[in-house]
Amino acid sequence: MIRFNVPPYCEKAMDYIRECVENQKICGDGAYTKKCNQWLEQKTGTGKCLLTTSCTHATEMAALLAEIKEGDEVIMPSYTFVSTADAFVLRGAVPVFVDIRPDTMNIDENLIEAAITEKTRAIVPVHYAGVSCEMDKIMEIAEKYNLLVIEDAAQGIMSTYKGKALGTIGDYGCYSFHETKNYSMGEGGALLIRDEDKVEQAEIIREKGTNRSKYYRGQIDKYTWVDFGSSYLPSDMNAAYLYAQLEHADEINEARLACWNRYYENLKPLLEAGKIELPVIPEGCVHNAHMFYIKAKDIEERTRLISFLGEHDILSVFHYIPLHTSPAGKRFGRFHGEDRYTTRESERLARLPMYYGLTMDQVDYISGVVKEFYAK
Ligand SMILES: *Cc1c(COP(=O)(O)O)cnc(C)c1O
Repeated sequence: MIRFNVPPYCEKAMDYIRECVENQKICGDGAYTKKCNQWLEQKTGTGKCLLTTSCTHATEMAALLAEIKEGDEVIMPSYTFVSTADAFVLRGAVPVFVDIRPDTMNIDENLIEAAITEKTRAIVPVHYAGVSCEMDKIMEIAEKYNLLVIEDAAQGIMSTYKGKALGTIGDYGCYSFHETKNYSMGEGGALLIRDEDKVEQAEIIREKGTNRSKYYRGQIDKYTWVDFGSSYLPSDMNAAYLYAQLEHADEINEARLACWNRYYENLKPLLEAGKIELPVIPEGCVHNAHMFYIKAKDIEERTRLISFLGEHDILSVFHYIPLHTSPAGKRFGRFHGEDRYTTRESERLARLPMYYGLTMDQVDYISGVVKEFYAK
């Protein structure tokens, strides 16, 4: 069976974890957390990066820092993972869903402005499949209406938009290091903070509302409760697992891109024959091969394709059920405008196996099975 995902792993991880255990430093903000933060800051050029327990939690932190309150509205796509909305719903805000573009599956930047009301506080672009949203336009709207931009860059580490790392363009950026992502620590994430003046509060929120981060740096001689907060810092053992991959980040990225490009070349004849659609990478966007998907004609064809792949020992999956059609989405949010593409395109999309360690032979085999399906 070719698995859909295999969590990334680099050999040094075990040594690094052992080091944490032997040094008896396994709580948060140890040596490996610092190394990961520094690596991410250097790689992305962001002002500040804080490792968190998940991307969901990074987004919750962003919602707290943005002072999102009851009744505020937050514009986002409906075609996304639940966490994008959850973080704001927890603050009592209303997710306002806007339709996606069928080419990238990202929020349609041209529909955002019409969804803005007096209550709108933020825009949350989701960089689907590690392919950037149209950030110039989104930042222009945000500036015009004085809105915050919180990037859900869960899938977007190592990707860029016009040379800028995803997650560093808006006020806040959120990365995920879940085991299904390009780089992983099991469960984990990171919050990227663009503006210096929010860093101290972010450190306080992440450390249960205390000024412990300052204390660790020797800037104060005792720490105390100074503001609201929670516990958003991961164990240093998880950071150690992640750091081993960050040391090989380019190698992992190149291996994924090689698989992605091979899938694309193999399946291009089906695209040209009008049988399927393939991902589109707009100009100015450099992606990270987070996923490879194809679009079938409709949901019925997709169902048959996924089971045909299964019969040939290939695990293929689909997502997302659009949030505005889910029970919680109906209760907490609303869709602005017409759902032209969100539901229709989500029903056609199937993801093929993609992970660090997938071989070219496997990619060729999978592509062959897809071609066989469409030859019938
Ligand atoms: C994976 C993912 C998340 C959640 O990440 P966690 O680290 O599991 O909290 C949020 N948004 C998107 C778009 C994702 O793909």
